[in-house]
Amino acid sequence: MTKITEIKPIRTRVNGTWVIVKVLTDQPGLYGIGSASDHYRAKTVIAAIETIAPLLIGRDVSQIEDIWQSVYTSGYWRNDSIINTVQAGIDMALWDIKGKEANMPVYQLLGGVCRSAVPAYAHAGGNDLAELEDDVRRYMEEGYQVIRCQLGPYGGGGFIEGAKAGQPQNGRDLPRVFDDEAYLENIPAMFAHLRDKLGFGVKLTHDVHEHLRPHNAVALAKLLEPYRLFFLEDLLSPEQVHWYRQVRQQCTTPQAMGELFINPHEWTPLITERLIDFVRVRVSKGGGITNCRKIAHLCEWFGVHTAWQEGGDNDPVNQMAAVHLDLVSWNFGIQEENHFAPEEYDLFPGHARLEGGYLYANEQPGLGIDIDEAKAAALLDPDRAAKSMFMAEDRRVDGTVVRP
Ligand SMILES: [Mg+2]
Repeated sequence: MTKITEIKPIRTRVNGTWVIVKVLTDQPGLYGIGSASDHYRAKTVIAAIETIAPLLIGRDVSQIEDIWQSVYTSGYWRNDSIINTVQAGIDMALWDIKGKEANMPVYQLLGGVCRSAVPAYAHAGGNDLAELEDDVRRYMEEGYQVIRCQLGPYGGGGFIEGAKAGQPQNGRDLPRVFDDEAYLENIPAMFAHLRDKLGFGVKLTHDVHEHLRPHNAVALAKLLEPYRLFFLEDLLSPEQVHWYRQVRQQCTTPQAMGELFINPHEWTPLITERLIDFVRVRVSKGGGITNCRKIAHLCEWFGVHTAWQEGGDNDPVNQMAAVHLDLVSWNFGIQEENHFAPEEYDLFPGHARLEGGYLYANEQPGLGIDIDEAKAAALLDPDRAAKSMFMAEDRRVDGTVVRP
């Protein structure tokens, strides 16, 4: 029996927002790594890893499911965002170890591949329609078949210049304010432009970043119906997902949701009532390979597809875990792309290869990705890592916070 001897966090990226968890064993040279990154709570995650580790020291690495269940109930309360992340990181590392012991890639242990590579969608953006169109064309030339289209920053398309917005005299004097009606005007116009210029051959998505009031979210989904999106992402905030029933009654725009989900009570009704088309849980927030494999299986029988979340704050280990799931899940839909700076890729030998709109795994045992700890330590800037990170706030004209 191979035993866990140590579980340690490795903090890296220049700003210290990546936490890679390394599970070491009593077998010489045998270890696994997983992603426990949380862009806003790295220090909290590290404390949680140190809290959970004593529960698992001495445990049999082969018992991945049993260890998952132990961690799940170890704090009595469930589905905490931070503990989920720790649990996921340890889970990925245990799959990595199991693959190394079996001398097989994890995708083989999960049943073997059912696709040759993993289609990824690109993130196109621009501050105006011409810039956006150029960016979409650039990705099309690179080979991407599915492209996310955004105007300007997070929530872009819905901003009004602060000076023209009519803010109250005693207001915050915001440089820009978010306005639902502006969004309802600009985003359908954006897709009208793109379809006019590009036709319907390219598959397009859009991320609403949960910014709209629920009734306006329903209206947007309906207004976008003629443009036949591949999916509309994060139309509603997690607090308002019951409105997906109204969306379904109103239009056929496909819905992708779930990157903020951490709890089965969030994703299960949307899947089993067929209220969404793509589930977008982040693998490291959804309990790792073990639990996301279960989500994928649940989805399969309800006609829902997977689109595991990536995005700029994720690390290459989380991406690799997603790629292994993508390769083996029949009901895979699409993988969000994520690309990294050369000095970041350099920390992770064996990282997934992104080329021509596809992600490729390798044939190494385990996850096939490792971390160079010396380079990881060298990249981290201690001053930047000492700072706390907070999600940026958008506000409405009266100063009310918009929930992301
Ligand atoms: Mg999103």
